[in-house]
Parts: sequence; structure tokens; C-alpha cells
Amino acid sequence: MAAAADTSLLLKPQEVPPVQEFNSDGRSPFFLTCDHYGRLIPQVLGDLGLPESELVRHIAWDIGIAGVAEALSKHLDAHLIVQRYSRLVIDCNRPPHVASSIPRISEATTISGNEGLSREAAALRRAQIFDPYHRRIDEIIDARRDAGRPTVLVSLHSFTPVYAGIARPWHIGTLYHRDTNLPPLLLQSLRAEGDLVVGDNEPYAVSDETDYTIPVHGEARGLMNTGIEIRQDLISDQAGEKAWADRLGRILGEIEVTLRERKLI
Ligand SMILES: [Zn+2]
Repeated sequence: MAAAADTSLLLKPQEVPPVQEFNSDGRSPFFLTCDHYGRLIPQVLGDLGLPESELVRHIAWDIGIAGVAEALSKHLDAHLIVQRYSRLVIDCNRPPHVASSIPRISEATTISGNEGLSREAAALRRAQIFDPYHRRIDEIIDARRDAGRPTVLVSLHSFTPVYAGIARPWHIGTLYHRDTNLPPLLLQSLRAEGDLVVGDNEPYAVSDETDYTIPVHGEARGLMNTGIEIRQDLISDQAGEKAWADRLGRILGEIEVTLRERKLI
């Protein structure tokens, strides 16, 4: 058998690291995360047994959110951290012990490169992609706390307009579970825009089994937090990405004022 069986190293030294940060000196209380930013696949994994047409779909990444996240980071002067490898390699918003962490099937697509994965191979994906990302988020939150700076965690995602044959009406959704401060303010602001169909924990709700970033970094650490999901067809080009970043930048800027008035930050 060829050297591909040697899995002692998932990412070669010349491959890009999973974690990338933008505006790390940003002064905003908002700290932005983007778990499904990229769709890179480590060279050693080839194409995971999938044609290119599958690797550009929403099953591989959150289409459009990269541009929104980067522009929003600039707009708010907020620190942004992103993970650049595909969620088909390992999903950075799933607890590593659940089946969907390294999916064998996503929507209706079988991921043959994930079938029959050894425990060691799964551990390697965790050690080289999942862990560095979440370790760095922890470090950033620690450093902000130690510097006496507030942190409001906003986890950015996008969703496919049609899932399993069902069309989704929402333009944007807020996703939350235990935080009772930020999500109601965001919902109120989004609804006040007047031209949006706003999902309240739609198309997903946050849970400990289906999420990782919000439960672990937001809720367990007592930070105000929310997830934001934008429908992908609205951010499929640069104009859409910019329009949504501008809108969210304005709304979150107004919410920051309210949070300060209420002495929540
Ligand atoms: Zn996502």
C-alpha cells in the first residue's frame, strides 16, 4: 500500500493552518467566530471520495459567510477567528463524540472518505484541526478577561435555502439557548428592519448535542452570546456579502449601545 496509509501527519508543513484571525487588535466587545468558514481538505485526504460539485456545496462549508464575517469584523472593529478546513473533514461546531462530528453522510451525500475511519485517524483530525481552533478561542477569551475587556460572542453561519427538498423562508435567524440578554435584542432589531423574515431559533436551535462553540465558549463561560444564520442565496456575491455585513454592523453597533446603557458590558 502507498504512503497515504501513513496518517502520523494530517497537515503537511506547507499546508495552511486551520486557524486564521482578522483584526486581532479590534476594540469591539463583540468577538466573532466562523466555524464553517472554509472548505479546504488536507492533501492526504484527497477529495474524500467526492466530486468537485459536492465539495462546493453547503455540505462542505457555509457559503458566503466568509465575506460577511471579514467585512463585519472591519465594520465593528471586532476580532474574528475562522477555521479554514471543510466541516466534512471535522465539524468544528459539533462535540467530537457525536456521529456528525466527522459525517459519513451529509444531507443525502455519502462521504466515502469518512467511512470506516479508524479511531486514530479521527483523533488526528481532532488534534490538528478541531483542537487548535477551540484552544485559540479559549486563549482569546482568557486574554480579554485578563485585560478587563468584555466579550460578547457572536457565532456566524449561513444556511442553504433548500434542505432535503424543503424551502426555508427565513432571510436570517438567531440561534441561542441559555443567554436571555443578547438574543431578544437581536431579534427585536432584526424584526424592526421591516423587510426581513426573521427566524427565532430557525432554521436551527442551539443544543449541547448539535453545537459546540456557543455551549462551550459562550454559555459555559458565562458570556453573552448568539448565533447568526444568514440564508446563502442572499450572500452569494460580493454585493450581498457587503450589504449584510453593513446591516449587521449597524444593528450590532446599536445593540452595543443598549448593552452599555444596561450595564451588561
Ligand atoms: Zn455553519
